[in-house]
Amino acid sequence: GILGGMSWESTQHLYALINRGVAARLGGLHSARLVLHSVDFAPIAAMQSAGHWAEAARVLGVAATGLKSAGAEALLIATNTMHLVASEIEQAAGLPVLHIVDATAEALRAAGVRRAGLLATRFTMEQAFYRDRMRERFDIELIVPDEASRAELHRLIYEELCRGRFEPASREVLRAQVAALAERGAQAAILGCTELGLLLPAGSAAALPLFDSTDLQARAAVDWMLG
Ligand code: GLU
Repeated sequence: GILGGMSWESTQHLYALINRGVAARLGGLHSARLVLHSVDFAPIAAMQSAGHWAEAARVLGVAATGLKSAGAEALLIATNTMHLVASEIEQAAGLPVLHIVDATAEALRAAGVRRAGLLATRFTMEQAFYRDRMRERFDIELIVPDEASRAELHRLIYEELCRGRFEPASREVLRAQVAALAERGAQAAILGCTELGLLLPAGSAAALPLFDSTDLQARAAVDWMLG
C-alpha cells in the first residue's frame, strides 16, 4: 500500500519504478499488485509548515487504515518528510512501514559509505528522525548543507519540483550543493526528497555518487513484494 501524492510528481515515478522492477524480475505482462492512496498535498503541506505533525499523522493514519482494508500487507510512505510520523502511521494501521531510511542506508552501507550528505526538505534535514535512524541503526553519519543552502533547497522542492517544474538552473544549484558537501568530506549525497531524483537522477555527473531515495525505496518494495 502506497501513501502517495506528496507530491504526485514523485509518486507517479515511484509507481513506474515498482512496476518496472516487478516486470524485470517476473517478465512478461507481470506488474505490481498494490493499492495507492493519493492525498491532496496542499492541506498536508500546510500542516507541515504549521508544525501540525500530529494532525498530519492522523490524516495519513486514516488513509493507511484504508489501504489495509483494501488488502495492503505493508506500507510505503512516498515522501521522506512524512517518515517523521512513520511510527504513528504504523500504529494506526497495524501494518509495517518499509522505511525509506533503511532502504537508503542499506545501499550506502553496501557502497562502504560512512559519512553522507543529506539533501532534502528543511524538515528532513533539520529534525532528528532521519539522522538518528541512520546513525543508530546503520552507523552512517549525515551532514547537511548550510542554512542558506537549506533554505534554497526547501524553496526549490515546494515551489518548483512539487509543481512539476524542473529547471536547468535549479539542477545546477543542486549540483553545487553536492559539490559543497563533497568539500566537507561527504562520500556520497543522498537525494532524500522524493522529487530530487527527477531533477538530477542518480548516475548524473556530480561531485559525489548520488543515492536517490525514490529508487532505493522502489527497489526495497520490489524485494519485499517478491520475497
Ligand atoms: N516529497 C518530498 C520528500 O520526500 C517533500 C514533500 C513532502 O514534504 O512530503 O520529503
